[in-house]
Amino acid sequence: MQTTYEKVVSVCSYCGSGCQIEFTVDKKANRIISAKGAPGRTNEGRLCLKGFYGWDYLNDPQLLTRRITSP
Ligand code: SF4
Repeated sequence: MQTTYEKVVSVCSYCGSGCQIEFTVDKKANRIISAKGAPGRTNEGRLCLKGFYGWDYLNDPQLLTRRITSP
């Protein structure tokens, strides 16, 4: 099975610091695989534990609403 991973830079939504996150996304499965800090003035490539591991709810199949995928 061929996987199609893509790097997507976003902003952590947990607190007001606005750290930049680089997600690795499996486009075929439409799932986030991992996250790491992205270079930026706020976090300089680092994340706290919430930023590192707190994104797994986005893959939860029991979300009550569909995710918005485009503006
Ligand atoms: S990574 Fe941590 S410090 Fe940075 S915005 Fe997210 S919760 Fe706040």
